[in-house]
Amino acid sequence: MSKTDPDLAKMIDEIAQEMRARTDRGRVASYIPELEKVDPAHFGMALVDLDGQVHVGGDADLPFSIQSISKVFTLTLALGRVGDRLWRKVGREPSGNKFNSIVQLEHEQGVPRNPFVNAGAIAVTDEILSGRQPRETLGEILRFLQFLADDETIYIDHEVAASEKRTGFRNAALTNYMKSFGVIENPVEYTLGVYFHHCAIAMSCRQLANAGLFLASDGRHPVRGHSVVSSERARRINALMMTCGHYDGSGEFAYRVGLPGKSGVGGGILAIAPGRASIAVWAPGLDETGNSHLGRVALEELAKRTGWSVFGR
Ligand code: GLN
Repeated sequence: MSKTDPDLAKMIDEIAQEMRARTDRGRVASYIPELEKVDPAHFGMALVDLDGQVHVGGDADLPFSIQSISKVFTLTLALGRVGDRLWRKVGREPSGNKFNSIVQLEHEQGVPRNPFVNAGAIAVTDEILSGRQPRETLGEILRFLQFLADDETIYIDHEVAASEKRTGFRNAALTNYMKSFGVIENPVEYTLGVYFHHCAIAMSCRQLANAGLFLASDGRHPVRGHSVVSSERARRINALMMTCGHYDGSGEFAYRVGLPGKSGVGGGILAIAPGRASIAVWAPGLDETGNSHLGRVALEELAKRTGWSVFGR
């Protein structure tokens, strides 16, 4: 099998079977009670190449809670809305801290480190919300994902959103703290409401891989032809995914996988192989950094077998 023309269908199927058989599955997130109900035995994987061909393995068509993977798409929307002005209220540096860390915010005057830690993503959500009603904003985010994935069945899981709202005291603390610095413009409960609901969007690996395809293809859909963002912006979103997409596990992910990726506590990861493919994996059990354990292992295997990496050929 040559590295440039791998048999992707076979590879994805093999990796899915290997992952399903493994016993090291990590731990399902429990701080959002609704997520704790998910069976750690699940494993799904989908890869879409630039011809729009989809290869799937395992539970690739079962919707799961995308959680922080939604932050890639809210960032895309916010940049589309305000461009570089976004960087006044959120930074672009890796944090080296937990995704919901409070301590760093005080040092940095309420301006979060990057758009993927919780505080940063909440600030991004607040930017999209400005000038609109929460319901409208949420509708815009959901429709954006449905459009990107070309699938109108994508939905918000309201039970997951309500579950996080009941227990999201730390996110409330982060938002109130940013509000005290003037970083949050809208009422805290509005911004948080939209944030919890976009994190609660449910998608399958197939839908997610399709939605991320523009990032593998210079900002445009390689088959349907429309442009989502400029190629420069696609590169920059990929750079942020690489440096910040796995929080304090980003270095390890870059080292092991070598592709931009964004994780969520629902156990999903969206990974981008620029010029080649968009890949989504789902394995609900997490490692200590709150990233999918077997999701990362599966992507490491894929990178190994294809030779794909942004760091060399
Ligand atoms: N909704 C989750 C939270 O705010 C998202 C975190 C994640 O997926 N890492 O805690």
